[in-house]
Amino acid sequence: DNKESENVQELIEDVVTLFKPQAKLKNINLIWEKSGEQKIFCDRSQIKQVLINIIKNAIEAMNDTGDLKINVLTSEYNVLIDIIDEGPGIPEEVIHKLGEPFFTTKESGTGLGLMITTQILERHSGKLEILQNEEKGSTFRVILPEAAAK
Ligand code: ADP
Ligand code: MG
Repeated sequence: DNKESENVQELIEDVVTLFKPQAKLKNINLIWEKSGEQKIFCDRSQIKQVLINIIKNAIEAMNDTGDLKINVLTSEYNVLIDIIDEGPGIPEEVIHKLGEPFFTTKESGTGLGLMITTQILERHSGKLEILQNEEKGSTFRVILPEAAAK
């Protein structure tokens, strides 16, 4: 166990920087504005892995140009990180299968990304919610307990 108090916005910034070139190649606007100083008690590299898995899926889901937004909210004692894509969304009959080991709809997918994501979040007393957007695409919401302010 390697948990420390970490600034959520810094973790997101690192991952956004990582994906900028790939997003640009696909004409995807990666939209995120640093806002707030939310802290979570976490293993930094594991939570980055969570964000990487979700953002990678979002970029893969979006074939045409579009917006990929990352919003951070706080609610009660939780930090919510929303990753909002403009992909095709997820069919109702498939949504409950996401996170099952080896479930993939991709020709060369592993179907492990969301399983690992769920496991990491469980180890952080957090969870993943998958929501259908009203217009198009889906939102992957990472929920983690906010670290108490000192
Ligand atoms: P993989 O990416 O290797 O297929 P994942 O566990 O990361 O495995 O994702 C499992 C499946 O969930 C994907 O194959 C895809 O069908 C679906 N999925 C994940 N993210 C999205 C998304 N943003 N939009 C639509 N479908 C998604
Ligand atoms: Mg994946």
